[in-house]
Amino acid sequence: MTGRCSGGSGCVPSAPARTPEARRARLAARLAERARAGLARRLRVAEGPAGPERVVDGRRLVSFASNDYLGLAADPRVAGALARAAGRWGAGAGAAHLLGGHTAAHAALEEALAEWTGRERALLFSTGYMANLAVVCVLAGRGETVHADRLDHASLLDAARLSGARLRRYPHGDAAALARRLAADPSAAVVATDGVFSMDGDLAPLPALAAACARAGAWLVVDDAHGLGVVGPDGRGTAAHFGLGAGEVPVLVGTLGKALGTFGAFAAGDADVVEALIQWGRSYVYTTAPPPALAEATREALRIARAEPWRRERALALARRFREGAQALGLPLLPSPTPIQPVLAGGAARALALSAALEAAGFHVPAVRPPTVPEGSARLRVSLSAAHTEAQVDALLEALARAWRATEGADGA
Ligand SMILES: *Cc1c(COP(=O)(O)O)cnc(C)c1O
Repeated sequence: MTGRCSGGSGCVPSAPARTPEARRARLAARLAERARAGLARRLRVAEGPAGPERVVDGRRLVSFASNDYLGLAADPRVAGALARAAGRWGAGAGAAHLLGGHTAAHAALEEALAEWTGRERALLFSTGYMANLAVVCVLAGRGETVHADRLDHASLLDAARLSGARLRRYPHGDAAALARRLAADPSAAVVATDGVFSMDGDLAPLPALAAACARAGAWLVVDDAHGLGVVGPDGRGTAAHFGLGAGEVPVLVGTLGKALGTFGAFAAGDADVVEALIQWGRSYVYTTAPPPALAEATREALRIARAEPWRRERALALARRFREGAQALGLPLLPSPTPIQPVLAGGAARALALSAALEAAGFHVPAVRPPTVPEGSARLRVSLSAAHTEAQVDALLEALARAWRATEGADGA
């Protein structure tokens, strides 16, 4: 996920606004400009658990919008574990980890995550965004450089900026270009990449990235928010898919709100890396620990994800079914072997029109537009889950074929 302009007043050059009225007028002008460009975001109100069928703004839709790849967000065993644990632990942790909020429930989940990912230690964070902030800020700083894939998630890019290091973005998936840059850059401290790219669904070329990092003595940080639980043996993610372990990928970030269906995140690595995050990770230290009941629910979700490999096999099989159908229709796909299946629309106007046409046909498929993705590559982001049926995927393809024809010319082409 890219994101050059995150909404600061730097987005629209203008004279300084020195009165409250002028400030408000400038804000209104920026909002109006965003809407005119077809880039305004809109909150939708969903009801009921995050499953494949959902009431959105009062209408029942078949949803291809969630990252709940294994269908665990609404699993009664996970929800039941949450409810039972809330009875035991209460609703909240009550304090930051270092000030009394760290419980046996957190410790047990950290141990389970470390064992699963084959790392010495894992450390829980409240969100993946915060995990990335801590990891990059602890491992890089002023006078150093963070090299990031051009399509990395926004939180990795923000982390690099916050670290005070120089941020350089290498062409997407181009390990050779990265290796050349690293060879010429003695200040390189961190190379940060998504494992599975969140808006494209493709895998980072981790073996080549790891080799380049080893030669340059840079930390390789892999944010596998969309790979863990879905790809690799035992769902252990993109590094495991390539047969790489802690030696090649020393710092692994995972999120709990995607395949595991709950909420939160973790960073895993050797004991010293985790100890450094505890000492200096400001987004770890200065925030309330996640609810212990949530940690218990996540441990149940992890148990199910590992005990029921058919879930990830099914999500991947439905993704293949979608791809075959879309290819037969001549729709422009990206080379994604994962449940993230983007359909490239081009301009923002067509992406929006496609999403609206699908919604009229009963499907929720979000349009993803710049600056989340690069200019000219607006898309529908279809995400498949083990909870979908074949019939739902086939019905989506039919609706997509009609919507595709109906929106030709929507970008004014
Ligand atoms: C979702 C996501 C995050 C953020 O994780 P949250 O727990 O939702 O804050 C970070 N990195 C990637 C690649 C993601 O897709």
